[in-house]
Amino acid sequence: MEKLIIGSHVSFTKEEGLLGSVKEALSYKENTFMFYTGAPQNTVRGKIDEEKTNEAIQLMKENNIDINDVIIHAPYIVNLANNKDIDKFNFAVNFLKQELQRAQTLGIKKIVLHPGSHVGLGVKEGLNNIINGLNLVLDEEKGPIICLETMAGKGTELGKTFEEIKTIIDGVKNNQRLLVCLDTCHLNDAGYDVTNFDNLLKEFDKIIGLNKIGCIHINDSKNEKGAHKDRHENIGLGKIGFENLIKIIYSKNLKEVPKILETPYISMDGGKDRTYPPYKFEIEMIKNKIYNPKLLEDIRNYYKKS
Ligand code: FE
Ligand code: FE
Ligand code: ZN
Repeated sequence: MEKLIIGSHVSFTKEEGLLGSVKEALSYKENTFMFYTGAPQNTVRGKIDEEKTNEAIQLMKENNIDINDVIIHAPYIVNLANNKDIDKFNFAVNFLKQELQRAQTLGIKKIVLHPGSHVGLGVKEGLNNIINGLNLVLDEEKGPIICLETMAGKGTELGKTFEEIKTIIDGVKNNQRLLVCLDTCHLNDAGYDVTNFDNLLKEFDKIIGLNKIGCIHINDSKNEKGAHKDRHENIGLGKIGFENLIKIIYSKNLKEVPKILETPYISMDGGKDRTYPPYKFEIEMIKNKIYNPKLLEDIRNYYKKS
């Protein structure tokens, strides 16, 4: 069997904590996963339950999930690029420091972070703010790693080119604690040709270095290359397509890199009241390397019964 480290975004609840996340990942037959330590859109965080965490670590061991492959995603409202309101900037820095602490408590080594949006300050100043922020967050030589995510370039988002990410890495003193998270939807929307992934990796290697890839988000995209939209689509149903995503997932250079799905939940009838996770069925397609044209139907039938 080919080595494949694959998982999806899962929940992390106040009640169950990491144990609930592991159980959810296992229910989709995953061997890694990613979660927010609370709501993605706010910074309210609870205390971590030590007993539940130990149980989770035990369950991971029993099921061959390497905790080194597990990822935390920082909340997307944290914006290190904006220092217009210095209190907000300092809050973001402190939040990230606490997030690193939480990661350490849970035994997790990697946190994915959106670099930030410059909100009109300009690219240069925005990148500078990110660098200053990260130097404050990563003031110690050792500790969990931050994976800077490549962005779609929606609005004033930074990190939409390899060059911008490289500028950030070069500006951070303890950049041994920085890696990169490639997001296939974001790369496509930013204007990169993900259908020629070998070529894309060559370019990444030239600018940043292949050894700096810490995580990959596997998403199809609702939009054409260069759309700067950032709207994820289910595997095989978007503009990137199943064959191209399979090539990326099984790329020889990325065997050791955890791959995480962040594809949209499915509704029963197109309504938005209740939606269901697609991951169990997308993971199955990926493992089989065979596209399932009845993907949505199968997901709906499965959750209808349960
Ligand atoms: Fe993200
Ligand atoms: Fe992503
Ligand atoms: Zn996205």
